Amino acid sequence: MTNPLFDTLFGCHAENHRPFLHLPGGRSLSYDAFLKQAARFAHALGALGLVQGDRLAMQVEKSPHALAVYAACVQAGVILLPLNTAYTDEELAYFLENSGARLFLCDGARADTLSEVAKATGCRLAVLNADGTGSFAIAAQDKPDRFETVPRTHDDLAAFLYTSGTTGRSKGAMLTQENLLSNARVLAQYWRFSENDVLLHALPLFHTHGLFVATNTVLASGGAMLLLPGFDTEAVLNALPHTTVMMGVPTYYTRLLNEPRFTADLVAHMRLFTSGSAPMLTQTHHLFEDRTGQKILERYGMTETNMTTSNPYDGARRPGTVGVPLPGVEVKITAPDGTSLPKGQIGMIEVRGPNVFRGYWQMPQKTREELRENGFFITGDLGRIDEDGYLQIVGRSKDLVITGGYNVYPKEVEQILDDQPGVLESAVIGVPHPDYGEAVLAVLVPRAGEVPDLALIGAGLRTRLAGFKQPRKMVLAESLPRNTMGKVQKNVLRTAYKDVFQNG
Ligand code: ATP
Ligand code: MG
Repeated sequence: MTNPLFDTLFGCHAENHRPFLHLPGGRSLSYDAFLKQAARFAHALGALGLVQGDRLAMQVEKSPHALAVYAACVQAGVILLPLNTAYTDEELAYFLENSGARLFLCDGARADTLSEVAKATGCRLAVLNADGTGSFAIAAQDKPDRFETVPRTHDDLAAFLYTSGTTGRSKGAMLTQENLLSNARVLAQYWRFSENDVLLHALPLFHTHGLFVATNTVLASGGAMLLLPGFDTEAVLNALPHTTVMMGVPTYYTRLLNEPRFTADLVAHMRLFTSGSAPMLTQTHHLFEDRTGQKILERYGMTETNMTTSNPYDGARRPGTVGVPLPGVEVKITAPDGTSLPKGQIGMIEVRGPNVFRGYWQMPQKTREELRENGFFITGDLGRIDEDGYLQIVGRSKDLVITGGYNVYPKEVEQILDDQPGVLESAVIGVPHPDYGEAVLAVLVPRAGEVPDLALIGAGLRTRLAGFKQPRKMVLAESLPRNTMGKVQKNVLRTAYKDVFQNG
């Protein structure tokens, strides 16, 4: 194979006239037509001066054209750097500078202000709009629809994917062809994808979940995707009858469950629902099962490792766990000194396998701290493995609260709080405290129209949690700060409430 990732995911579909993408409004794009567009784009990359190993940053609205850029980059050996569409000009300047991108593709609506940002970092700018117009599309329009694939090896870089920035500044994870390919093959098999599948794709394309987990799995199996521009409950309800699998984040499911139209009948034909990117409450799992008779398959992954564990397709799917390691992936739990811990004990989750990235771009120190010489990646997530080998995530190590010398795992407390009358959801954080160093603070979001009785909840907790785990204080908030993947931004909460125990 000259270019394993391209040949396996894309090239093998040349002349395949089956649909790859279904679009709102009933239009479809065949694999063959998609690959022809990708070939024209690959020529355009060359015309704009990019050669193999160069980096292309892309901040565009979701569209089939954005996916064709991905295919074009792989075919031309260019490293793709997808960027969150929510990033401001200032944030983009960091990514462009940090990545050393040669070309920046953006939407026409922002081209004027962004051209300054690009110029300051010495990066060329071209426009690609969601409707397929723009200077990049013009550069591609008269180009041939075949492109000679640039040879690459398994170890060559395919993409830099910046982490979500939930715990600090985003880091550029360097992903190789092998990282993406091994995961695509495993997932297509593990989740039993076939060319008869149609995936409901409402996820963004700048994140590992939507771009790699979803798209690569479909490409590896020859199925199709129904591509929605984003998550809109109404649009998803209308799309479900035309699909067989849905991949989502927990908020998608809570929103669907709020809809009376989301019924067992509507989804009786669906083969699989998966959830990841953030923890799903066990209550949501149970509500979903009560409503539909189906069980959501929860899985665990991250930018640096792609997909790592999954609940089984056939075996027991256990709410509150993220399942077992995927074939070829090793997961272990370690103590702070790096030694392995036995089953049942909580520690750092470490991961090794062909899915694990090669390091953070321009961050050698951070790479050394998190990627061990023996290949294990220190994820920053804390968890335990039960007797049957299922992994349970108890939170991020950065969110661990140490109060008066005792460890409190926020998720344990949040799970109990989420069950309390009048509480929609909760977040537990550690904030500075004059006596305890840190103290447990609970931020509660009330259910619509209800006012939780904090005294009653506090009394209830006393019978269920050891004293040091009980929140020293509970506060009400209208909502929790979340990023685009639905992850609660605890650092925002920690800053907002940093003084609550300082003044008595
Ligand atoms: P940053 O590393 O920049 O702080 P991030 O870790 O949120 O951001 P991502 O790579 O997008 O960036 O997210 C991966 C993280 O999401 C995991 O490390 C884990 O904490 C969380 N996660 C993913 N899936 C699940 C899941 N099913 N249950 C609980 N947590 C999950
Ligand atoms: Mg992370």
